[in-house]
Amino acid sequence: MSSRIASLLERNRAFAASDVRENAPSLPVLPHAGLFIVTCVDSRVDPAEFLGLRFGDAIVARTVGGRATPGVVQDLAIFSYLLEEWAPEGPAFEVAVIHHTECGSALLADESVRRDFAHRTGYAEDALAELPVLDPAESVRADVERIASDPRVSSRIAVSGHVYDVRTGLLTTIVEP
Ligand SMILES: [Zn+2]
Repeated sequence: MSSRIASLLERNRAFAASDVRENAPSLPVLPHAGLFIVTCVDSRVDPAEFLGLRFGDAIVARTVGGRATPGVVQDLAIFSYLLEEWAPEGPAFEVAVIHHTECGSALLADESVRRDFAHRTGYAEDALAELPVLDPAESVRADVERIASDPRVSSRIAVSGHVYDVRTGLLTTIVEP
């Protein structure tokens, strides 16, 4: 076993021995804070840290750039279905889409990088061109619109958009729920 995995397992045993799991929400689709967070995979952009989320507080989906990809929209459609079926009288729910400054997805804005990557992988170049977060306020606005306008996402879910600044650690709201 690699030392990285061994270290993970060690930390996992400490977690299992703690009482953290006792705070699990009764319905997994209804976490304590009533939130579904969509943000970037970047290790500097860990919502548990910069939002102070605790165990069972929120559902978190992370993609490159925090983009509302078809996969994220599908997850929200599944989530919407479960919410309507299991908790029709449940509390209001919110999706917070969070993009950030200095996002590594900007690499794909370079046409030669994009062409090379598309050539190697077979991914469509024009679809890749939509991914880079160059102006996070602008891209987060577009992704909020993409989610909010999708008929498969429950109308009971409010959607907001925010930008996280990796230098200051501060979050700014761009689109109110
Ligand atoms: Zn990023």
